[in-house]
Amino acid sequence: MEHNVPSLEWSLDMDFQDELQPTPSPPSESEFVVIGAGLAGLTAALTLHRRGREVVLLELGDAVGGRVRTDFDSGFTLDRGFQVLLTAYPEIANYLDLAALDLRPFARGVNVRDGDSFTELLDPRSSPSAILAGLRTQLLTPTDRIRLVKLALRLLRSETGILERVDDLSVGDFLKTQKFSDKSIEKLWEPLLSGIQLTSSLEGSARLACLIIRCLVVGPAAVPAKGMQEIPDQMAARLPGDSIHLRAAVEQINGSTVFLAGGQKIAARRIVIATEEPSAARLLNATARPGRSQWHAYFSAVEPPNDSKAIHLLPSADGPCRNIAIMSNVAPEYAPQGSVLVVAAGPTTQRDAPLAEAQQQLTRIFGSQCESWKLIKHGIVEHAQPVFVPGAAFRRRTPLTEEVVIAGDHRTTPSIQGAMVSGRIAAETAISGG
Ligand SMILES: Cc1cc2nc3c(=O)[nH]c(=O)nc-3n(C[C@H](O)[C@H](O)[C@H](O)COP(=O)(O)OP(=O)(O)OC[C@H]3O[C@@H](n4cnc5c(N)ncnc54)[C@H](O)[C@@H]3O)c2cc1C
Repeated sequence: MEHNVPSLEWSLDMDFQDELQPTPSPPSESEFVVIGAGLAGLTAALTLHRRGREVVLLELGDAVGGRVRTDFDSGFTLDRGFQVLLTAYPEIANYLDLAALDLRPFARGVNVRDGDSFTELLDPRSSPSAILAGLRTQLLTPTDRIRLVKLALRLLRSETGILERVDDLSVGDFLKTQKFSDKSIEKLWEPLLSGIQLTSSLEGSARLACLIIRCLVVGPAAVPAKGMQEIPDQMAARLPGDSIHLRAAVEQINGSTVFLAGGQKIAARRIVIATEEPSAARLLNATARPGRSQWHAYFSAVEPPNDSKAIHLLPSADGPCRNIAIMSNVAPEYAPQGSVLVVAAGPTTQRDAPLAEAQQQLTRIFGSQCESWKLIKHGIVEHAQPVFVPGAAFRRRTPLTEEVVIAGDHRTTPSIQGAMVSGRIAAETAISGG
């Protein structure tokens, strides 16, 4: 593989001293101030705006979106880290116009690595051939197939999930209670659920995993044709233009006054802190919990290694690539004409992306064609998700002082859905005062 394009590590941390001039210049007072224009902050601001409240949204970055951002490089659309929108997330209907996002859906199902080849396990509702392939695959035992269908039906019938919080257990223990075969756990469940929860194996929450599987059963995963950043951009476009202030780093909060790095201050009735957890902890002088990180690498190729539109799953024993997606198979707009975009990603606890091992793994999988693949970008997104352990609450109580409410995926579940729920609840709490 060629390395002629420099790599870049994306980091969510920014140097507060770097850029101190918010645009546009924020007012000196506002009824509500929301700090952080990720999906939680945008949802909070939109909720407040829809209720006719005056709101100022402060974002330290140069664009809205937080962890949902997209870069463009030589005609390629590169989301920051590999991520997808589950179209069945219940909260998105309240805040997104899905038709306007021009979504490109992944195939409903997965492409599972088994031995030397991939097997597409597609939703039997998608085509008759998917039913036949599902019946023929050696990946699942006949009992696995029955258990899988039963689990899917139970999840479909239960909107709020099949596990109560007190019953929550690790994904690994849950799969054992469901009596799935070791092979299906190794090849299908582990790469699927550890790739989503960014856990090194199956230590994540089964209760959360069940809700995610339910969403995958209800609707496809998708990306907007122009990249994931269309999601926050669409939300921002629904707010008054002068309410969003970029490069506005909040340094301190005192009572209901917000102090910006550039020296400005804004007096508010209430403040919603909608930053990622480490930043919220800094503002509140609290201790942040550790987060989970994702590494990823984007490659350009001339030919796609296969024509699958499903997310490829790779067992953890094979190397660092837990998920691969041939993005241009799913969204041709993600690559310039005549080019192919491939992304490989996985959870990591390291500070450096495991690029060499990943490239070796890709060559083992796709053969010598990988030698002509060009690395476009690679890196690690630190604190991509807050840790969500078995037994954790779906909604951590939002501590409300007279002046401050907290939002962010660390208050709910580590996802787009969770961020939006937290933003809505925080705004409603801020309006009602408790
Ligand atoms: C690589 C990766 C893959 C993911 N995959 C998926 C997926 O496939 N599906 C899914 O549903 N979820 C996924 N997620 C999780 C999802 O993206 C997040 O849960 C969600 O975007 C979090 O939104 P948020 O608003 O809570 O936080 P953030 O997006 O982190 O927003 C916080 C904002 O606050 C700003 N900020 C911080 N400090 C300050 C300050 N002092 N002053 C002003 N502004 C400040 C930050 O710049 C940021 O814009 C993934 C996340 C990552 C990183």
